[in-house]
Amino acid sequence: MNVINLTYKSANCFLISADDGWVMIDTGWPDTFSQLLQLLNQNNISAYEINYLIITHFHPGHAGLTQNLKDLGTNLIMLENQVAFFNKLNLFYKKNPKANFKDITTSNNIILSDYDSRNFLKSIGIDGELISTPGHSDDSISLVIDEDCAFIGDLPTYSMLEAYDDIVIEDSWDLIQQYHVKTIYPGHGEPYEI
Ligand SMILES: [Zn+2]
Repeated sequence: MNVINLTYKSANCFLISADDGWVMIDTGWPDTFSQLLQLLNQNNISAYEINYLIITHFHPGHAGLTQNLKDLGTNLIMLENQVAFFNKLNLFYKKNPKANFKDITTSNNIILSDYDSRNFLKSIGIDGELISTPGHSDDSISLVIDEDCAFIGDLPTYSMLEAYDDIVIEDSWDLIQQYHVKTIYPGHGEPYEI
């Protein structure tokens, strides 16, 4: 899988290609849209070509530009268990309005079950699944590409499993490994092999 990493302000933001445009995984911090557009430009990609967005979890450094992209026509793909969480981020920024955050709306959202996600991804040319991988937060999900790679957001690093000694994190990693992935793309830092 060809993965483009647009990293700025320490938060990784990835692009993979689908049949009809790009899928973006995470968006970076609020109020940084011009930086994201600049990076896209450097990669000869127009923001209008990003048809789908997946947010690994609704924390500010990952979901900050969700609505900026949706306003350009991007569809937000979510697992059912994430729906309650984008509102929490909206509420946080209502109380902290400094960051120029755009409220995430209910339009252009594609809400899927784990099971439906495989069929949906297949329909856009991607063999994989969206799975719930809690551990860092309850709304954390991963995009797993069969026999290839996983985008895991802020799930603690595989090599730290023993140090965390946390059954929720271990279960998430057990699930990810069922897809026989080799490369891990974390929300921060460099990709690594497992
Ligand atoms: Zn986080």
